Amino acid sequence: MTDDTIFDKIIRREIPSDILYEDDDVLAFSDVNPQAPVHFLVIPKQRIATLNDLQPEHAELVGKLVLTARQLAADKGLAEDGYRLVMNCNDHGGQTVFHIHLHVLGGRPMGWPPG
Ligand code: AMP
Repeated sequence: MTDDTIFDKIIRREIPSDILYEDDDVLAFSDVNPQAPVHFLVIPKQRIATLNDLQPEHAELVGKLVLTARQLAADKGLAEDGYRLVMNCNDHGGQTVFHIHLHVLGGRPMGWPPG
């Protein structure tokens, strides 16, 4: 399919992944190259390439990404110590997969400012 990314292949189960949660709108799976003891991604099933492409009608979907991240973080015992949500946009943001995704990172203190 044109403009497919690797995440579309994960959604369609064409490549393996460690899926943590799925419903009609969102999918969560472990990051293959974890940057923290806990590192997973929450993505919409609908492909939206970057944060720049978000429209007002996506507000509920974006809210669902955050609420899914919050629930899975709590399930993994991260709530009290805390964790970080990151969404990278384009080159300066460090985005490499052009299908928006929320990184959930936890299990260690996070530095600030980011590099
Ligand atoms: P970003 O750099 O913000 O676009 O993040 C893309 C993330 O996708 C990186 O953290 C990668 O490690 C992760 N990633 C790439 N391919 C896969 C895959 N097949 N399964 C799980 N995570 C992946």
